[in-house]
Amino acid sequence: MAYDFDLFVIGAGSGGVRAARFAAGFGAKVAVAESRYLGGTCVNVGCVPKKLMVYAAHVADELEQAAGFGWTLEEGHFDWGTLIANKNREIERLNGIYRNLLVNSGVTLLQGHARITGANEVEVEGQRYSAANILIATGGWPQVPDIPGKELAITSNEAFYLKQLPRRVLVVGGGYIAVEFAGIFQGLGADTTLLYRGDLFLRGFDGSVRTHLKEELEKRGLNLQFNADIQRIDKLEGGSLKATLKDGRELVADCVFYATGRRPMLDNLGLENTGVELDERGYIRVDEQYQTTAPSILAIGDVIGRVQLTPVALAEGMAVARRLFKPEQYRPVDYRNIPTAVFSQPPIGTVGLTEEQALEAGHKVQIFESRFRAMKLSLTDIQEKTLMKLVVDAETDKVLGCHMVGPDAGEIVQGLGIALKAGATKQQFDETIGVHPTAAEEFVTMRSVTR
Ligand code: FAD
Ligand code: NDP
Repeated sequence: MAYDFDLFVIGAGSGGVRAARFAAGFGAKVAVAESRYLGGTCVNVGCVPKKLMVYAAHVADELEQAAGFGWTLEEGHFDWGTLIANKNREIERLNGIYRNLLVNSGVTLLQGHARITGANEVEVEGQRYSAANILIATGGWPQVPDIPGKELAITSNEAFYLKQLPRRVLVVGGGYIAVEFAGIFQGLGADTTLLYRGDLFLRGFDGSVRTHLKEELEKRGLNLQFNADIQRIDKLEGGSLKATLKDGRELVADCVFYATGRRPMLDNLGLENTGVELDERGYIRVDEQYQTTAPSILAIGDVIGRVQLTPVALAEGMAVARRLFKPEQYRPVDYRNIPTAVFSQPPIGTVGLTEEQALEAGHKVQIFESRFRAMKLSLTDIQEKTLMKLVVDAETDKVLGCHMVGPDAGEIVQGLGIALKAGATKQQFDETIGVHPTAAEEFVTMRSVTR
């Protein structure tokens, strides 16, 4: 049977655009439907605007450090409106680049919500299209717990478009987004409190990293409230918000920001017309090659809930394009040793196993840990400490994990990711000549075992 398209991609986000472009490049006839914004979450309400705002917040650090280097600055003034307007302009530029990337690779771009109407059929704006393969790359959406007053809270989606910087912010959650936005709001001058329901935030990260970041954030004056959760939110006269905690405490703020995880975006997608099954967490169930339980339908990215990071969605998109249209080049995505950064202030960079994971996996581990005050701070009064940590298999000498909290952690950990992928040993780390004077050289000069 002749179909309109070889591949119909739903969602022009990180994964969808990558799959579409590569598939078209391999000669396939491809369509992409996008209902909201080209580039998806990452470009519009994720990685990109977030990082721009992290840079903005970081300027406060540079200004604080300037005096030590002899600079006298007039008192600075931050204008939220300028930041948001400039950020929006940059996002629009990127939207245009994504459009060109797709159109120039020969992909048919359809604007509108896509609904699957059959195993090989998708409807967009009342028009039906047939396709040999359908790829679901619809991403995720913020999830706010169902508490009275939840409609008064915002999520990351709205935070990027606030009319003004709130004076007092409560950030709820203890994952990437909560920690990053707490740093943004606080760095830009808002009185910021982070509420996390457990004992210590960033569950799943290395224990030393979590404790170290907690200490550094407290030094910076961020109000960290652990074992704290909101029971209800009420609007007060004058417009402020009152959050009543489960332990009865009441906190007043101008903005309550929820970062309590994301659900897969399946709204009105038409899955009931297909044999696509969900897993126990509600994400689309796929096999090793991203095929759903319906043979002609595949899914990648946040909607499969595996690793919710842009470079992972990109890798999955490329794998699908190759598998369908260039099988001789197909290579499975390697989910081991994925480097990642949390753009907190200071940031975290991490790759490989945490100490806890290594022990649980039965490794006999050697831990190398170093805490030091970065050279850049030596002419200032700032007492921030950088943490670097290596988790090493005591039997094979293989480096199992590298973890850092400190300036440029994300930049530094990218290279370490290659070393871990190549299976580097501690001895090879030791034999690598350092780059001097940098913070990064500490990773190749940690000689004595901490424990
Ligand atoms: P998305 O990029 O979400 O794209 C899905 C697209 O599908 C969207 O454009 C949506 O409008 C569209 N869509 C949905 N349903 C339909 C439909 N029925 N019809 C048509 N179109 C539809 N990752 C990092 O690696 N680094 C970071 O620094 C980082 N920061 C982040 C910060 C925030 C605040 C958030 C929320 C996420 C961040 N992420 C980061 C995660 C990253 O954005 C996601 O992992 C990535 O965007 C997932 O790509 P995707 O292709 O699966 O989905
Ligand atoms: P995460 O899943 O990382 O964190 C969610 C947090 O909310 C956890 O601390 C969780 O606590 C808490 N939580 C969940 N449900 C509730 C609830 N009902 N009440 C109170 N607290 C709750 O989600 P995020 O929203 O922070 O980010 C989503 C994903 O996006 C990340 O996991 C990451 O993959 C990606 N991302 C990546 C970034 C990067 O690469 N720098 C930046 C931002 C996002 P608990 O731990 O106790 O379950």
